[in-house]
Amino acid sequence: MTIHRRDFVRLAAAATVLPRLRPAAAFLGRAGARRDTYDVAVIGAGVFGAWTGWELQRAGKRVVLLDAYGPANARASSGGESRVIRLGYGKDEIYTRMALHSLDRWQELSDRAELPILYRVGTLFLVGSDEKYGRESLETVRRVGGRIEELSRAELAVRYPQIALNGITRGQLEPESGALMARRGVLTLVREFVRAGGSYVDEAVAPPSGSGRLAEVTTRNGDRVRADTFVFACGPWLPRVFPALLRGRIHSTRQEVFFFGPAPGDRRFAPPLLPVWLDVSRTSAIMYGMPDLESRGFKIAADAHGPPMDPDTAERRVSAAGLSAARAYLVKRFPALARAPLVESRVCQYENTSNGDFLIDRHPDIENVWLVGGGSGHGFKHGPAVGDYVARAVAGELTAAEPRFSLATKLVQQHRAVF
Ligand SMILES: Cc1cc2nc3c(=O)[nH]c(=O)nc-3n(C[C@H](O)[C@H](O)[C@H](O)COP(=O)(O)OP(=O)(O)OC[C@H]3O[C@@H](n4cnc5c(N)ncnc54)[C@H](O)[C@@H]3O)c2cc1C
Repeated sequence: MTIHRRDFVRLAAAATVLPRLRPAAAFLGRAGARRDTYDVAVIGAGVFGAWTGWELQRAGKRVVLLDAYGPANARASSGGESRVIRLGYGKDEIYTRMALHSLDRWQELSDRAELPILYRVGTLFLVGSDEKYGRESLETVRRVGGRIEELSRAELAVRYPQIALNGITRGQLEPESGALMARRGVLTLVREFVRAGGSYVDEAVAPPSGSGRLAEVTTRNGDRVRADTFVFACGPWLPRVFPALLRGRIHSTRQEVFFFGPAPGDRRFAPPLLPVWLDVSRTSAIMYGMPDLESRGFKIAADAHGPPMDPDTAERRVSAAGLSAARAYLVKRFPALARAPLVESRVCQYENTSNGDFLIDRHPDIENVWLVGGGSGHGFKHGPAVGDYVARAVAGELTAAEPRFSLATKLVQQHRAVF
């Protein structure tokens, strides 16, 4: 397993640096000169919008980035503490390739940042008797040149004695994958964007109307922003901005995340002794989690769609049922944590397309508007690849548009196919 020790060293030195990460509006709001007209306006500073803005600016465009609540805000899907980055996607080579591309870009961003954004602590798949997904992931990752190792059940037992292996037949470890510090990553990126001359504005954009070409958008405060091209990367809000087009094609589901506190001095649930893990044994819903990163607790969540959720108004308090299910899973898979206290919890929303494929396409009626979203619970890691794709699409440099990202493939009927 590759552990980048410099990350831990930098982290140890971070205590004195942390206060420099001031709240978004204060440290970004005034920066970046306002212009009369921009090449591109990107609406939404989540992971997709932030990488898109950053890539466009790097390509020499004059870009303004706007967000209703602030980059990686508490309501945004990108606003969580951490996100898994993995290469394995079954036989879905497109996402394996995108993740591999993104891994390098995240590493570069992490290297430039004050605090680590990527922790390459490894990502471990726990595979059960239904081998299909694991086997296909293994083959695809190897085919595209990613690193992945197979571990027998006996090897798993020796390497990870803190994991109970009932129902697990073997493991596969991606030693160079791991965890992304989500909110920090987006803030760092937007700050780089602003420092390099991009404009960031804390404003909600009113839904555009009409057809043909869009000349400007209006903010809720009445300001007008003119641009040649508009990219709407509004995550779970996309159906609010384009109700006639997207209602029912992107649906938000409530997802609960739990952080449990290991006993003092117990390092078995922190890197390097535990990597990021995904339980794909199908003995329950797919469960996944993080080792204790930066002393925020051992994270655990179910990758099963929850009930519908309103991203603006939802109260973000976890349910008693969700907490008991997480504890029941701990008893089964991480028994030494069965009595560990809940130290933090979060409620967030997935913004799902019908099958889990992203939406990156031109608006069918407004030629200079792009729709970017549908991260569907797995989008964060792909931020760099999505930003690169959208920047090339906007510049007219895409040799071939990816059919799986098209609006035409986004149905109202749900049938999840990407895991
Ligand atoms: C609990 C949970 C766990 C996840 N785990 C993983 C994981 O382990 N790995 C992974 O790769 N992915 C994961 N994901 C998925 C990933 O986080 C999302 O797919 C991704 O963050 C979506 O980013 P986005 O930029 O599309 O949307 P968002 O982050 O929601 O950003 C959209 C932005 O648009 C802004 N906005 C909306 N409307 C307007 C408007 N009218 N005007 C101006 N601004 C507006 C919002 O304020 C918001 O900031 C997870 C998601 C959740 C909820």
